[in-house]
Amino acid sequence: MANNAMNKPYGSFVQLIEQLTQWHSQLEKHAPQESCVKLFEEIRSRIIKSNEKKIPIAKLVKEDALNEMEWFLLLYLSTLNLLKIMVPAAYRIPNLLQQSSPFSSRTVALETLFSGNSVLFKKGILRVANGAVEVIQNLLIGTTQNNPHLKDSPRTFSPKKVMSELNKYVIGQYEAKKLLVAGVFEHLAKCSQSSDIPFTKNNIFISGPTGCGKTYLCQCLARILKIPFVHADASQYTQTGYAGMSVSNILQPLQSLAKNKNTLPLSIVFIDEIDKLHEGGERWGVSSGNVQAELLRLIEGKTFTAPDYFSNRPIEWDISRVLFVVGGAFESLQVKHMDKSVGFTHTSSIYRTTLSADDYIGYGMLPELVGRFSYFIQLLPLEKEDLRRILLNPHNGPIYQYKKLLNSSTPIQPALVEEMVDYAYEQRLGARGLQQKVGQLFQQQFLEKSVKVVI
Ligand code: ADP
Repeated sequence: MANNAMNKPYGSFVQLIEQLTQWHSQLEKHAPQESCVKLFEEIRSRIIKSNEKKIPIAKLVKEDALNEMEWFLLLYLSTLNLLKIMVPAAYRIPNLLQQSSPFSSRTVALETLFSGNSVLFKKGILRVANGAVEVIQNLLIGTTQNNPHLKDSPRTFSPKKVMSELNKYVIGQYEAKKLLVAGVFEHLAKCSQSSDIPFTKNNIFISGPTGCGKTYLCQCLARILKIPFVHADASQYTQTGYAGMSVSNILQPLQSLAKNKNTLPLSIVFIDEIDKLHEGGERWGVSSGNVQAELLRLIEGKTFTAPDYFSNRPIEWDISRVLFVVGGAFESLQVKHMDKSVGFTHTSSIYRTTLSADDYIGYGMLPELVGRFSYFIQLLPLEKEDLRRILLNPHNGPIYQYKKLLNSSTPIQPALVEEMVDYAYEQRLGARGLQQKVGQLFQQQFLEKSVKVVI
């Protein structure tokens, strides 16, 4: 288990918990139950395997201070309980102890282990929990750098297969999907060259009305490719030196995944709400133009200096493998173009093709920033038919999600489907409007059904 986490134990328990909490919120965004079960199964099978091979578990964590039972319990508690992940009944400690005889013969006073000041707590738990962190990291990355089966083995992706997988989840937006896949594959190809060949990145600029799938498209693509995805809200950032988050915080989630020292992994960073930074705007007394200039340094560079999450020391990170995608609604631009189009319908071809780099510069984006993008992708407002398909999508549509959550098989009346589609379309909320309506529809069922949760 040679890995980052073990090589770089967290300095304090507080830091570790902060990191775990951050990861936990990401885990929760993905399927929480599945992640939890997978996580626990991995921990458990590792413990059982090492027991079969008579490898002292303490050796696994390169720490002699803990016996097997303690290691097991600490690992379990630190990953699940401290993280407040919900644990299915079968995986709760008493049940597990009954199932796994190697551990059941010994008892441990948990209160003693967790009584804040004990030497064991101080010395042992950090290292043990670092091991747990590694497992969580692996789950989040989707592929595991420590998994011998996948270690450093090159992966080949076919754009056709990726596209057909993407089509299952993202409805419509065919032109946008094609362009995005092309842009991301160009990036993958550049990253697969030998590292001494310098390359210019082809960052991607996406615009389109709210709820039409800008974020979702990038997120799904990253998930299919099994590469990390980071979402950042541009409107939350301020100039370095001013109160608030600085642009360097955007890279934080990737730092813990850095495989080689100071090299951030192949990943997609989606910077949303970029249109809110138009020149002339201001936030917390800081000119939005200045924040754009900082984003420019991040996006154009091969390296970027940002404080290390744990030590807070400034580190120069190699970010050449990070693909930046910026997105925004650019509402007034869309409206202007709609007005110009004669006989405009929701998806007129003028809407589709006319926005150019110059339009974005005219909107208030810095020409230098816009100049760093080689792909401009425009998403279209969703048509009623698209909304209907999203609503009923058996892969991950909102109805499917709620039915799964409530274990319900009640069919939805066609009239109700149309009502929801009309609402989302007329309110111009895109698929977000569908989610609101479906949520309202199922609310009552949450009041009628008891839910068994372990807290
Ligand atoms: P935005 O364009 O504002 O970034 P999002 O991508 O966040 O919108 O979309 C919000 C939600 O709506 C997504 O999480 C997804 O569930 C759904 N959604 C939006 N567009 C589509 C689409 N084209 N196909 C399927 N689902 C979509």
